Amino acid sequence: HSFVPPSILSILKRIEDAGYEAVIVGGAIRDYLFGRNINDWDVATSARPEQVQKIFSHTIPTGLRHGTITVIEAGEICEVTSYRKEKHYNNGRHPELVEYTKSLYEDLSRRDYTINSIALYRNGRLFDPFDGRIDIQNKILRTVGNPQQRLAEDALRHLRAFRLAADYDLEIESMTWQAMCQNAHMTSCLSRERMNQELLRFAKCDWTAWAPKLGAGLWLRHPLYPGLSILADGMIATREHDEHNWLQVLQSFTAKECQEIAIGLWLLRAYSATKTKPSLESLQNLQRSLGKSKHWLTSWMERLELLKELLPLSVDLFIPLLAKKLIIKEKSHKDAHMLLALLAMQKDLPVHPLFKKYQTHLKTLPIEHIRDLAVRGSDIALHLALSGPLIGQALFMAQNAVIEGRVDNKKPIILDWLKKQMEENSDLEK
Ligand code: ATP
Ligand code: MG
Repeated sequence: HSFVPPSILSILKRIEDAGYEAVIVGGAIRDYLFGRNINDWDVATSARPEQVQKIFSHTIPTGLRHGTITVIEAGEICEVTSYRKEKHYNNGRHPELVEYTKSLYEDLSRRDYTINSIALYRNGRLFDPFDGRIDIQNKILRTVGNPQQRLAEDALRHLRAFRLAADYDLEIESMTWQAMCQNAHMTSCLSRERMNQELLRFAKCDWTAWAPKLGAGLWLRHPLYPGLSILADGMIATREHDEHNWLQVLQSFTAKECQEIAIGLWLLRAYSATKTKPSLESLQNLQRSLGKSKHWLTSWMERLELLKELLPLSVDLFIPLLAKKLIIKEKSHKDAHMLLALLAMQKDLPVHPLFKKYQTHLKTLPIEHIRDLAVRGSDIALHLALSGPLIGQALFMAQNAVIEGRVDNKKPIILDWLKKQMEENSDLEK
């Protein structure tokens, strides 16, 4: 137990010296056994919250209702929670009643998964009555006790299961998985706050290893977890089955791309619900909390702008527009597929036919890449004697006209056409 910082050991000792039992539990032990860095220390104790407050001079009653006191000791912050059992649940939301106990075994029994129910005493002894270590070794996520009961009691455990399975690349044990499927509807009772907090944890963890196995799409579009996209704003609609094969489609994307799609879907839904674009501030918050770059932020702002324009259009109109915009912006066709997948999910359309239509449309275009355009900025500068931003403007007009088939992709023809435009159109006057 040399991995435990002295300040945490000293918290344990001070509780013991006052005549109570104290152990480290939860994420810290799990992370240690998985060989991860530990960022969050949870202590459990047989002392009642009032008694904990008496032992330490610097405490905050963070979750008094749930028996949790935050203790600040030698600069280390640690949550100290009194041993408790939870009996009465209210619609899968919160335990109604917190009942304290003197028994560590009872406290561990009310915890969600075996990998989270291992306790460590100050002397280095582990107490692991549900064989969490074996599950860690075999990379299995399993409820403590009867899965049906445990997953029906508190719907947040569903989201925690996804988060943990994704983060630690775990297999969800089959009875646990069955119970999750049977109780999936309960996730609709969750409060937004609890749900978003857990979804954000999901979004932050690295689910690259897990995603291809169970399919990131499972999270997004499992028929039983409809619309539970990352950071989903508490929006759950019921859907009987994956009629449009979104799951299968998502499997053609890499895990990182799936994550982007999930984020996009969330942004799009937030936009559709309110008809106001997600504010720059909320995007920046998302960027910061997901640890993404500035470039990521601007890409999403651009995509959202584009999606906003495409969303009200019919398929026959949005496909040519999307193709044109992406060609002009020199985006890859993977980008197009991602945006098409998003549009399909948002508009409830089957996505494979969209991909096909897009490909077919590309083949009808005079150019598929902007580099194939017959004129360059330098040609325009030379032949039309334009300068500065006007060159860019003229080039943009030419690109549009060629892609839309209004002008042949031949240098003299484009230049002639531009000249005529200049004569007719005052916008391009020098
Ligand atoms: P992290 O490392 O992200 O903090 P964690 O598992 O420690 O993960 P916490 O929310 O800090 O997550 O919870 C601490 C412990 O409390 C968990 O390890 C688990 O034993 C228990 N726990 C948390 N949420 C639930 C729940 N919904 N149902 C039952 N037990 C829970
Ligand atoms: Mg924790």
